[in-house]
Amino acid sequence: MKVALVTGASRGIGQATARRLARDCGHVIVAARDVSTAEETADRLRREGLSASALQLDVTDDTSVRAAAEEVAASYGHLDVLVNNAGVLPEATHPEPAEAVDLAMFRRTFDTNLFGAVAVLEAFLPLLRKSESGRIVNVSSTMGSLADQTNHDSPYYELAVPAYQSSKAALNNVTIALAKALADTPIKVTSVCPGWVQTDLAPGNREQAPLTSDQAADVVHRAATLPDDAVSGTFVDAAGTVPW
Ligand code: NDP
Repeated sequence: MKVALVTGASRGIGQATARRLARDCGHVIVAARDVSTAEETADRLRREGLSASALQLDVTDDTSVRAAAEEVAASYGHLDVLVNNAGVLPEATHPEPAEAVDLAMFRRTFDTNLFGAVAVLEAFLPLLRKSESGRIVNVSSTMGSLADQTNHDSPYYELAVPAYQSSKAALNNVTIALAKALADTPIKVTSVCPGWVQTDLAPGNREQAPLTSDQAADVVHRAATLPDDAVSGTFVDAAGTVPW
């Protein structure tokens, strides 16, 4: 049985992705920092006839990350799919417009979006190496595309959430580095932009964004179930390749 783990899986895109993976992959581990919300989601998936379990995992807490990896090792012995979905956009709720250089904001954003993802990767990589076809999906954003940020014709040119954009650009760099480091293994690593989605990530998303979480989960699911002959180390959205 294939085992998939999604971080930040008790709501939004993470929850929708967990459901899709449970349908296809066999078993999904619903990881969330609040274990009771993880249990609620896992219960709901089980009532839908899917195989799911809950796991406490705060990506910013090293002890939590280590304990989570130990629990997965003890229960399953390996991991086939890791979706680094947990993410924050604190600039969206900041009372002032985003400063280009706001150290506290950068730290707050990077703690979850970059260091959290790296901590999870470090802890779970040994388990992914035990899979016959490991897949890693880093849930990124087109807002992290340096090509778009520097292209006057891009709709993203005027956007200014620099801590968030930098954190996703850095996460993309992790995707590239990891794909190279794992080139001689079956593991494939992908950065995915889910699109603009009706979630609680930013105020207004629920009213203005065109995509539901279920729709957004499609592209994350596709990256999580790449065939063995697929290229590793790409950045994609629903339309195809996103420029780095
Ligand atoms: P939500 O705010 O709905 O969900 C974010 C999830 O991340 C929640 O489950 C939250 O858990 C979790 N999370 C936050 N901090 C931590 C932490 N320290 N440890 C574990 N989990 C944590 O947003 P989305 O579903 O939209 O976001 C999911 C991903 O998609 C993010 O990486 C985001 O950057 C990305 N994305 C979203 C877009 C959109 O339009 N919505 C566009 C592009 C990318 P909790 O419930 O405990 O807060």
